[in-house]
This record gives sequence, structure tokens and C-alpha cells, in this order.
Amino acid sequence: MPETLAWKDIDTVFLDMDGTLLDLHFDNHFWLEHVPLRYAEKHAIPVAQAKHALYPRFRAMEGTIDWYCIDYWSRELGLDIGALKRELEHLIQVHPHVADFLRVLRASGRRVALLTNAHHRVVDLKMTATGLAEHFDQLICAHAFRIPKEDPLFWPRLATEDPFDPQRTLFVDDSLPVLRAARDFGIRHLRAVRLPDSKAPPKQTGEFLAIERFDELTPGLVTRRHSGLPRQPSHPRQPSHPGQPSHPRHSGAGRNPKDDM
Ligand SMILES: [Mg+2]
Repeated sequence: MPETLAWKDIDTVFLDMDGTLLDLHFDNHFWLEHVPLRYAEKHAIPVAQAKHALYPRFRAMEGTIDWYCIDYWSRELGLDIGALKRELEHLIQVHPHVADFLRVLRASGRRVALLTNAHHRVVDLKMTATGLAEHFDQLICAHAFRIPKEDPLFWPRLATEDPFDPQRTLFVDDSLPVLRAARDFGIRHLRAVRLPDSKAPPKQTGEFLAIERFDELTPGLVTRRHSGLPRQPSHPRQPSHPGQPSHPRHSGAGRNPKDDM
């Protein structure tokens, strides 16, 4: 039986994207099957040989910001990773009950932010494919800080950029190293995700309470439009790159101009 969240103690909600709101099947299929396929075609080698060459290179970069960087992999592999992702756009899927949960959450007046390690061009692709962006006050790309969420330096940096009270924050993510970094920073309300990839077995979620579906989080989540909670932080922020709608906005100081399209 899932444990009910103490919503009365929560003002800010950070939600991971891949594997949490969206089915990780897209990403797993992309990196484990589609990239090796296109790499094999490029080099005229068998797909099995491409996998043998690529998998260790992927593993070696896990936990670093470059692991999430499509520019890095485009350079490393000599492939247009952004274009290859668009080839598989039809596989981008929202997990069950996510849209309904986001609708109720947004109506409750709490600050709602997407918080992802993904490159902002991948976020754009996925938000366009799913239509989820309208549910967020902010789309925050850790990539813009050049520090991934699993790095203990990420959380103080985020709190400096966009202050929040860790004691009154809920964070949902499918990565245990990321959840541990958030817990060590002091984020009080944490949930792991038991089914990040719809085509894979359930994931062990270690010491964290976990959800299988997002409707498990709705009990107790009541609208409180008149609570006086600000919908957004009071300081205005420019969109981080040209052509990006100002609401919701991408956040992240220190974005390197070369990251932009
Ligand atoms: Mg994730």
C-alpha cells in the first residue's frame, strides 16, 4: 500500500522526465538499439559489433553531464544524435495517469518544475511530442548548469538559482543516485519510480518509497488556490535560448551559448 504524501507540507514539486513522467523505453531503445544500428550502417559493420564497441563507451560516461549531452555524443560518434532521436519520436510515451496528476497538481497552486538532466533540445522534442509543458511553471535542465542531478554540487546550485525550501519540496525521480543526492541535500519528500521502462521488469528502489503509477500521489492533493502561495518565484527570468516560449521557461544560469541551436 503506497504511503500517502503529506501534501499540506509541500509547496514545491520537482519531477524528473525520462523514466519518471515518460516511458524510459524510448531512451533504452534509442541508445541500446537505434544508435548501434545507425553506427553500424555508417561504418559498414555488423550491429553486434557496433554494440560491442559502443556499450562500454556509454557505461564509461554514466553519471557525468556528457552522458546526457547530445552534442557530446554527436561529436564522439560522428552521428547527428538529435536527428536520430527525431526518427524515433513515435516511441515517446507518457506514463499512465501522469497528465491527470499534473493537471490536479497545477490546479493546487504549488510550484511545479520539470527537473531533468536531459539536453534542452531533447526536452523541447519531448515536450512537443507529449504536450506536457503547459503543466509546468518551469522546465529546468541540469545540463544548463553542466552538473548532473546525481552530483552533490547540483542541489546547492539549483537552490541558489531558484530558491526553494527543501523541507517543503517533493522530488520524484527514477534514479537512485539522483534521489540520494537530493536526500543528502535535505529534500524531505522523495519518491522513486518502480516502473521506469514499461518493457522492463520492476526496478528495485532501495531505501526509497516508490510509486508504480502517478495516481498513487493524488490522495490528499487538494486545490488551494487561495492559500496565497505564489504561482512562480517573484523574480522574472529571461528565456534561456532564442525561440523558447517564456512560460514555462527553461532555467539554468551559465548556459554555454554553444549549447544552443
Ligand atoms: Mg530519469
